[in-house]
Amino acid sequence: DLVKDEDLEILDELGAGNGGTVTKVWNKKRNCVMARKLILVDAKPSVRKQILRELQIMNDCNSPYIVGYYGCFPVDVHVGIVIELMDAGSLNDIYRQNGPIPIEVVGKVAEAVLHGLMYLYDVHRIIHRDIKPSNILANTNGEIKICDFGVSGELINSIANTFVGTSTYMSPERIQGAPYTIKSDVWSLGISLIELALGRFPFTDSQDQEDQDQDSETEDEFDEDATLPLNTQRPKISINNNKEKRKSKGVSLAGGGHTMSILDLLQHIVNEPAPKLFSRKKQFPNEAVIFVENCLFKDPGQRKSPQDLLASDWISKSTITQEDLKVWAQSTISKD
Ligand code: ADP
Ligand code: MG
Repeated sequence: DLVKDEDLEILDELGAGNGGTVTKVWNKKRNCVMARKLILVDAKPSVRKQILRELQIMNDCNSPYIVGYYGCFPVDVHVGIVIELMDAGSLNDIYRQNGPIPIEVVGKVAEAVLHGLMYLYDVHRIIHRDIKPSNILANTNGEIKICDFGVSGELINSIANTFVGTSTYMSPERIQGAPYTIKSDVWSLGISLIELALGRFPFTDSQDQEDQDQDSETEDEFDEDATLPLNTQRPKISINNNKEKRKSKGVSLAGGGHTMSILDLLQHIVNEPAPKLFSRKKQFPNEAVIFVENCLFKDPGQRKSPQDLLASDWISKSTITQEDLKVWAQSTISKD
């Protein structure tokens, strides 16, 4: 049976994104914790009803790589969606709190996301449309799952005007107006994997990249400010804005050469070569580098499909076990 709003007691806030806030809740009827997401929906009642109907498709999405769905309902001007609580949080939370994610774990993230994408597409003909580290969640059982996929066309329309955040993971062809395909999700996955492995958002201008690599010498140093979200209320976003560097070289946040406007960034994605899995201080396995390269062909025709990527060496030769993932996931939360 589906969960209703009155079954839920509010616990802590888990996070907030563009369209909504996510809260940890206690389900009184079932005696367990869940996550409730409230999405601000600017639409008339008939459209809201349509959205709630369309969201029911999530009820049929059953896969170990998709975050579980428990129900949805209207909450004044919001739509509430109750989903499985992932107690290690998003991969975005995890790398921001703990620094770069070990490359073997990044490989398992890739594998889980690809399985999730293939399930959504093969079984339900759904394209995710919003793959990014904050939509990839982990739990202390060592499971990795994706959430926030585009099930409801009406919901997409009703929040489409809040053009924030996600655009940075957008593929070159999408930026140029081509429709979404599963290959656009593969691009977003490639960008996300680099971000997790480096511990920072990958797009920088080349001089910045050099500075970053020279500045960061210790293994555990990471830049918690490196990936400010794209936000229309913040006309300039900061790319690779290392705190140390700001101090030592006096680079200012607003006026310096280390910021990129949204348009600059979109233009960069379309016109410049795709980023690579590369760091001067770290040697990544060649199979991982090739895998990411195959995700980031700018021509979607050349870019590999999820199926081909799953068959690649990096994934098929991985030796890390579910138990290893469990230990890793637990280590990310026991620190705080
Ligand atoms: P975004 O994905 O753009 O960050 P969301 O509103 O989708 O915005 O999510 C906000 C944050 O809430 C996520 O970054 C994540 O940290 C957290 N979150 C979302 N869903 C869950 C969940 N099911 N379990 C635990 N944390 C979650
Ligand atoms: Mg999300």
